[in-house]
Amino acid sequence: MLGNSYADCHLHLPPAVSAPDFASVLEKAEIGMAFVNAAEKNGWQNVLDAAAQTRAIVPFAGIHPWQLAEHGADDLNDLEALLKENKNLHIGETGLDRAIETPLALQEEFFVRHVELAIKYKRILCVHNVRAYDRIAKILKRAGPLPAGFVLHGFSGPAEAFGEMSGLNGYFSFGARVREKKNAKIRELVAGAPRERILAETDYPCAKNPEPLPPIAAITDALGKILDLNCARTLVYENAGRLVENYGR
Ligand SMILES: [Zn+2]
Repeated sequence: MLGNSYADCHLHLPPAVSAPDFASVLEKAEIGMAFVNAAEKNGWQNVLDAAAQTRAIVPFAGIHPWQLAEHGADDLNDLEALLKENKNLHIGETGLDRAIETPLALQEEFFVRHVELAIKYKRILCVHNVRAYDRIAKILKRAGPLPAGFVLHGFSGPAEAFGEMSGLNGYFSFGARVREKKNAKIRELVAGAPRERILAETDYPCAKNPEPLPPIAAITDALGKILDLNCARTLVYENAGRLVENYGR
């Protein structure tokens, strides 16, 4: 059954949805593996609770660059304590965003700490990037290969990331934009991606994607059409599974 499931490699737990309800949302959408990210401290425990309901959930906890105003450096000590207590917990969402007013230097302080934790505790890291690939690449190159790998979520380039980030154990997660038939840039990008590092995601329940069930099937099928694959679902599931297995779930 699992082999026929979808992997959704980046989504969130809506605050209004209970953990058991969320488990059934995933089941209805045939999602056998879901990388569920908590973007702020008050969501960390919810994600762990949801993961206790179903093995389909791979839990992630972090501090999103959009949430920095509500957090201080101390909160990263609490994140570290949580990682020590929960061996199944990964790190995210974190990253850099040039489209917001929060100073990039502050964002970098937090991002670097998340990267250090991913190395120290050998957990997968989920990275948010808006127009900041140059800085993210610099930090990740300096850190060296991440032992448990990382996901560049909502990946939209640049293409040189394929070579640079694969070597550091990075994966590329494509979202709803692959469904834009007229978007030649994203099609070209997907076509050039290393197949063994391609992931798919809904980023559910973000504003651009408010459908009640995560349309991971549509996103995965669109990827398959671009890649000329019968079963992109299997490709994505195997890639996500390799990432999680390497960590030793
Ligand atoms: Zn997200």
